[in-house]
Amino acid sequence: MSRLRALTGIKPSGTPHLGNYLGALRPALQLQQTHDTFYFIADYHALTTVREPAQLKEHTYDLVAVFAALGMDFDQHTFFRQSDIPEVTEFSWILSCITAKGLLERAHAFKDAQSKQQEVNLGLFCYPVLQAADILLYDSNFVPVGKDQKQHLEMTRDIALRFNHLYGEDVLVVPEPLIGEEVATIPGLDGQKMSKSYNNVIPLFAPAKQVRKSIMRIQTDSLGVEDSKDPDQCNIFQLYRHFTTAEEQATLAERYRAGGMGYGEAKQQLFEAVERELGEAREAYFELREQPETLEGILEKGRDKARRVALEVRKRVRSSIGL
Ligand code: AMP
Repeated sequence: MSRLRALTGIKPSGTPHLGNYLGALRPALQLQQTHDTFYFIADYHALTTVREPAQLKEHTYDLVAVFAALGMDFDQHTFFRQSDIPEVTEFSWILSCITAKGLLERAHAFKDAQSKQQEVNLGLFCYPVLQAADILLYDSNFVPVGKDQKQHLEMTRDIALRFNHLYGEDVLVVPEPLIGEEVATIPGLDGQKMSKSYNNVIPLFAPAKQVRKSIMRIQTDSLGVEDSKDPDQCNIFQLYRHFTTAEEQATLAERYRAGGMGYGEAKQQLFEAVERELGEAREAYFELREQPETLEGILEKGRDKARRVALEVRKRVRSSIGL
């Protein structure tokens, strides 16, 4: 039985942290079990802000190594670099010709940049059209969406429905949102949302010593070892939940409440749980990161698979619009 296709793009914006892993990478990888997944590294999108060529390349390799280390199946699924399929820019132009400027003016990313008086280049303004092209060029049935991307998928659906209305109901597959289990916002070392801009992250793949050091810096209240503690109010425990079974959580929660356990010990348990899930993957990551030719090989394989689909859709699109 053929599976429905789910597509996701990931921006190459530096080494991911545990918030990225729990909120985006781990759910994306789990989708492999139920869908035909297409993942792409959104390097054309990154160009709206990244001005360092070497950095773009390094961050692209970082992501390939991350997915490989976390066990992505490159035979059954498709993992590629957006810019390896240049047809997406041609398609983006075609879609931009049926997209109202007003629609783009309502996009969050554009409005946000404008209100902060940041540079708004045409790429940033047209971002939702390229995103629609990314999704529609691969006949994607589903796009996993978190709270932050709901609007973009709605725009893609608007664009696809308009295209089909003009050129034929069966030309483009109109994608549906795939709403997975909502992953809570992962707190950083200070309890705020884990984010590079708050300088409060625990890196996904750093040497074990460094990960441990980060975990030991998680902020807590100042209760003493003997005091009874509330796991639900503790940043350490909020992270611990994501790496452990219900049973392990119940055991640690009980120790919090009973008193007699310091936060240092809870941190050590968190570190061990993180290590259990990610220790091996980290070793694999560092090895792969030293092998650019292996990483390029993965991208080439993905490019060939993605391109086959893209060329079919392109043919359908061009003939429907009279090119
Ligand atoms: P960013 O590079 O910050 O845009 O993050 C990329 C994706 O990672 C987001 O769309 C979220 O799905 C996920 N993510 C980032 N930070 C967190 C966090 N603190 N908690 C949960 N998910 C996160």
